[in-house]
Amino acid sequence: MSGIYLHIPFCKQACSYCDFYFVTRTSEREHFVQQLLKEIQDYADTRYSEETVKTIYFGGGTPSLLEPRQVEKILEALEQTFEVDSREITFEMNPDDVTEPFLADLRSLGVNRASMGVQSFDPELLEFMHRAHSSEEALHCLELLSKSRFESYTVDLIYGNPNQSNEQLEADLDKLLPFNPPHISAYSLTIEPNTRLGKQVELGRIAPPEDDKVAAHFEIVNERLSEQGIERYEVSNYSRAGCEADHNSSYWEHENYLGLGPGAHSFWWDEKAYRWENETDLRSYLRNEDSKDKEQLSLEQLAEERLMMGLRTRLGVGFEELEQKYDYTLTDRQQQYLTNRQQEEKLKVDDRIKLTGKGIKIADAIILDLVTLH
Ligand code: SF4
Repeated sequence: MSGIYLHIPFCKQACSYCDFYFVTRTSEREHFVQQLLKEIQDYADTRYSEETVKTIYFGGGTPSLLEPRQVEKILEALEQTFEVDSREITFEMNPDDVTEPFLADLRSLGVNRASMGVQSFDPELLEFMHRAHSSEEALHCLELLSKSRFESYTVDLIYGNPNQSNEQLEADLDKLLPFNPPHISAYSLTIEPNTRLGKQVELGRIAPPEDDKVAAHFEIVNERLSEQGIERYEVSNYSRAGCEADHNSSYWEHENYLGLGPGAHSFWWDEKAYRWENETDLRSYLRNEDSKDKEQLSLEQLAEERLMMGLRTRLGVGFEELEQKYDYTLTDRQQQYLTNRQQEEKLKVDDRIKLTGKGIKIADAIILDLVTLH
């Protein structure tokens, strides 16, 4: 079983924090779709098209800048090329693009999960993040979504903005939670160097978010969502029972996936494991000049990745899986480290290693320590 990720590299404007690959000239959308169809068709009759596709994810960029007829062509090409038995077809959208007919069209094409990039309802924060939508548009799109025929949807939220108070975060949650969303991805703002925000921080014009504030925001998000039965199942992902995202879980569990479109990553593991990335340049992609450098991954690298991704999830990582799938046995130093952290109630160890609520707050530090002790 595998997943397919489609990178739609167009945005109306650059959000201040974003380092995904996108362009703001949207006139090349049709040309891009034609090239994407070609990239899909090139996989016909290869070993990659033999596995059943269980999840499809339209990400970006901004997939909602596509027209439904373009989405239809892409889905048709996928079905003609691959054995598609998709339980989950997710489509990222921005509030300013969403209308009732647009949602209805996507739903009738088989898209069953909407991913709405709200980030905040606060006008000041939306401006600070340079989002293209207004607070009213964010509320309106959630009204449309909750009345739509979508089986599931997720809302993206950003916290830990340098200018964001606890009260502003509470106010965002007060607006979001009455919609009863089945799934929420809540990210702390990260300052990436090649972004408008990164440059402002570098120039000293903006102070980066303080660790204490980010930790307090994480607490608020966890508590408020948990009170509503929306539980964390990964550091940044929360859902009602049974509404977890399959597509993301397949990344964490090293299932095979193909990434299509400029800058998209693929991972494939049959006898050997490989990862590759399409060239991050729309012009080269449209000229069909894309060259893919495949990196072969060792079992040790894969085991470390599995620990890094798995320990960020509620399920953690099993010892049997580490030994059988990755030929990875923990060293005495790692065992001792686990015992020490267990005494501090930062993790639990039985047949699996799982971080506790206390441990998840410092997940990156624990994972790094554990991996380097091998
Ligand atoms: S956050 Fe989303 S909408 Fe904003 S620039 Fe990045 S990809 Fe585009």
